[in-house]
Amino acid sequence: MTALPFDPLDPPTEPPPGCPMPTLWRIAHALHRLHRSDGDHCACGARHPCVHRRAALRALLEACGVPLPAPRADIFDLWHGILLVSPSRPGHQRR
Ligand SMILES: [Zn+2]
Repeated sequence: MTALPFDPLDPPTEPPPGCPMPTLWRIAHALHRLHRSDGDHCACGARHPCVHRRAALRALLEACGVPLPAPRADIFDLWHGILLVSPSRPGHQRR
């Protein structure tokens, strides 16, 4: 995976130039940022990278128009993760 339009470990907050789906990018970026690691574990407590982190990365690629053969399970994890993105959620930690 060398032809990515961004750094998968540190994607920019704003979509890359020419990104065809900037809204999807921003949603996926918020999810990606929520699920960052503290070493072996994700911020959500799961083993890193957790399903949401991986789903967010897929969505970032999707937003850039990179075609991906995404399994159905990943699509589910993506939307599940997006629904959990809420600033008012108790226990939510932001650094
Ligand atoms: Zn996580």
